[in-house]
Amino acid sequence: MTQRSLVLVKPDGVRRGLTGEVIRRIEAKGYTLAALELRSATPELLAAHYAEHEGKPFYQPLVDFMLSGPVAAIVIEGERCIEGFRSLAGATDPTVSAPGTIRGDLGRDWGLAVQQNIVHGSDSPESAEREIAIWFPGLG
Ligand code: ADP
Ligand code: MG
Repeated sequence: MTQRSLVLVKPDGVRRGLTGEVIRRIEAKGYTLAALELRSATPELLAAHYAEHEGKPFYQPLVDFMLSGPVAAIVIEGERCIEGFRSLAGATDPTVSAPGTIRGDLGRDWGLAVQQNIVHGSDSPESAEREIAIWFPGLG
């Protein structure tokens, strides 16, 4: 079951120079890169991307954070890579993500709860298809 997943290195990860480390872990795991671009998000793009979180208390701070600098937008490919990357990323809260994961090894709480957690990864085949269409509309 070859899948594609949308991965974002969030602005905190790009600012801290962790883009290469995230890509290194993706490639070391054996997934391939189908698309890779440094992008500035827009409010419209983030409204689509985070539609499921609209109305939650952390929504606007999250959108503002995602607009605070460039993100690395990546499409990865491989067998079961959607759950595989979620496993590489670790739990949402980087304070308690397991060591060995991207968030667990490289992230922590900087005073903004769990907002700055370095990476995003699609959480289902439906999300992956939707998110890839948002970030890479030209990608067949
Ligand atoms: P995940 O990225 O692990 O799939 P969610 O989809 O639940 O997590 O949330 C999306 C993003 O919103 C998280 O990665 C994190 O950046 C942010 N977030 C989630 N919950 C909170 C919270 N309680 N406070 C601040 N930011 C949050
Ligand atoms: Mg999510």
